[in-house]
Amino acid sequence: MITIDAPNLPHRHSSESWNDEQEAKAMKPTAMRQTFPNTHRLRTAVLLLPLVLLAACAPLPPRNPLATWVPSPNHDVRRPVLIVLHFTEQQSVAQSLDTLRTRNSGGPVSAHYLIGSDGRIYQLVPDQWRAWQAGPGRWGTITDLNSASIGIELDNDGRSPFAQPQIDSLLRLLADLTTRLHIPPTQVIGHEDLAPGRKNDPGPLFPWQQLAEAGYGRWPRGPLCDPPPGFDPWMALAVVGYALDDRTAAVRSFHHHFRGMQGDTLDAEDLRILYNLAQQIEPATNTCIAPAPGSLDGPVAQSPRQGRQ
Ligand SMILES: [Zn+2]
Repeated sequence: MITIDAPNLPHRHSSESWNDEQEAKAMKPTAMRQTFPNTHRLRTAVLLLPLVLLAACAPLPPRNPLATWVPSPNHDVRRPVLIVLHFTEQQSVAQSLDTLRTRNSGGPVSAHYLIGSDGRIYQLVPDQWRAWQAGPGRWGTITDLNSASIGIELDNDGRSPFAQPQIDSLLRLLADLTTRLHIPPTQVIGHEDLAPGRKNDPGPLFPWQQLAEAGYGRWPRGPLCDPPPGFDPWMALAVVGYALDDRTAAVRSFHHHFRGMQGDTLDAEDLRILYNLAQQIEPATNTCIAPAPGSLDGPVAQSPRQGRQ
């Protein structure tokens, strides 16, 4: 049963008899006191009824029935710390919107956002809630990815280049999310990065370099150089965030992300990229000296996918 407390009503003894005029005076500011006819009070009650019903239907915050509820105002919502990018691998926004509100072959799925190839942004789950988009996996020390991340699906069939209006909208959305939710801009990864071998999106065609130039995600910076003796590329992959349960799958995801290519064995350019990335995250004193331009077989002072797209 819902009751509404009337503020500032004078104490009313059970033996006292109030009429409508007294009660109306008590409910209104002095300057506005006047006699309300019964029809006016009835109309007011009818007008307020939908508000009362709305209040009755509003979800209450979860409370543990084992405890006495003594609310404190000193709290806020839990905050995601990571943004995960996907491709839908479906044929249209309409099909993706249907799947993300029902299920796919593996069960119920969703995402916080879906961006169409025309750049239109759809939101399906509130930022502070847990969308079912990342699934099992690991990134660095994070293991419950759905609790820790915002999921953004991109309408793409998995084989075609990403449309520029879609990337432009993604950059606007990343600016909003990283600012409003205080997510570090480097904490933008692909689904396949957190689930090597299980997932392959957003794939080698995704323009990670363009995102990095706008300030989002990890990307090699400055001149690439050969790592010093004793450099462990597997340790560097783990420092970047990749799980090494399946090293071949981890290299495949790394290649999609940082080389824009297929392949599951590390080469010399991979080692330069991994050393550069690891130095950004955990700088070591034993740094390499950048060689003279042209002395390496890969591009120097250029990101590895420069010129592609
Ligand atoms: Zn995905």
